[in-house]
Amino acid sequence: MQYKSFLIKYAEIGVKGKNRYLFEDALVAQIRHSLKKIDGEFMVSKESGRIYASAESEYDFDEVITALQCVFGIAAICPMVQVEDNGYEDLKEQILAYVDEVYEDKNFTFKVNTRRGNKRYPVNSEQINRDLGEVILRRFPETKVDVHKPEVMLHVEVRTKINIYSRIIPGPGGMPVGTNGKAMLLLSGGIDSPVAGYMIAKRGVKIDAVYFHAPPYTSDRAKQKVVDLAKLVSRYSGPVHLHIVNFTDIQLYIYDKCPHEELTIIMRRYMMKIAERLSQECGAMALITGESIGQVASQTMQSLAATDAACTMPVFRPVIGFDKQEIVNLSEKIGTYETSVLPFEDCCTIFVAKHPVTKPNIKMIERSEENLQEKIDEMMETAINTVEKIWC
Ligand code: ATP
Ligand code: MG
Repeated sequence: MQYKSFLIKYAEIGVKGKNRYLFEDALVAQIRHSLKKIDGEFMVSKESGRIYASAESEYDFDEVITALQCVFGIAAICPMVQVEDNGYEDLKEQILAYVDEVYEDKNFTFKVNTRRGNKRYPVNSEQINRDLGEVILRRFPETKVDVHKPEVMLHVEVRTKINIYSRIIPGPGGMPVGTNGKAMLLLSGGIDSPVAGYMIAKRGVKIDAVYFHAPPYTSDRAKQKVVDLAKLVSRYSGPVHLHIVNFTDIQLYIYDKCPHEELTIIMRRYMMKIAERLSQECGAMALITGESIGQVASQTMQSLAATDAACTMPVFRPVIGFDKQEIVNLSEKIGTYETSVLPFEDCCTIFVAKHPVTKPNIKMIERSEENLQEKIDEMMETAINTVEKIWC
């Protein structure tokens, strides 16, 4: 059965009061954007608390579902049949045709659940439930009614037209991207940061990204991997503007001037400072990292505090309380895992000390950073002015 339309259900955005239309419009825009990428023409429309995507050409069902399952704000996708109101007898025929086409095997229990949006419809919901249930039982004697736990819930929505659906495919939840500002994701080639970006985008936040590249210590393949990861995240978040910062000189300078056990933490602090500057330029209001408490030396409470102190913007760490395995599970679910585990060095792994500090003292770190005074400001300017930007 080739469904002509999909009813898109949204959860959280339903409760936004007067702002509701902004959220609906953002969701419609994101749905249009996601359906543009696949074969087929769709009309996406909004009609009193309902969003519909209607096919205007042939399309591949699985492709549509996969695309819609990437759109934050969608609670459920219901492939449906929409029929004209041609009278009650016609509705009975339509429901029979629906059941016949959608369910090859009629051995199931069901219940009809009618909602009458159009109160002028001559039959009330209860009566419609009973009458449609009866015609189905009569035509398909293998079926049974179960009003408590039906295997198939047949939804009939009587509006100007009549919607019939029974398949409810879960969407990703969350809020439409673009309804909650923009943030800058520090995207490395690892497992954690793409997941962190996904989680914040899920809350409706638009994502820009920054990657600190250290050629020739990190290869072009490592950079390509980050570009690929940004593209994977963009399936959910919409286009990601990726900023690639050449970090080599700063890294070598830190390596040269600071105690080696503090390298990671000082490098991380300069990453935050540069990310913050780039955020101000592009209107991002927070930074996002893939840090999780205790995962490595640079992610102890003390290290996180030292990293935080380097910038004034809020830093979102959505995976902060996750175990590695939980982050891996999520990365598999969103499809970034395979790319994340490709074996190319990222710029931190090359400059790591054998015994990094795990409890950095902020005063001590700031004292070490004084050794950078002569050139660091100029180097940061250069790094910012030579950023390479790629739309992913
Ligand atoms: P990931 O899997 O995200 O790489 P990780 O466990 O390897 O995380 P770290 O290398 O300690 O963790 O980095 C912690 C966070 O710092 C990353 O999640 C990322 O947000 C940021 N980060 C680290 N290296 C880079 C880099 N080269 N470019 C951009 N961000 C980075
Ligand atoms: Mg990393």
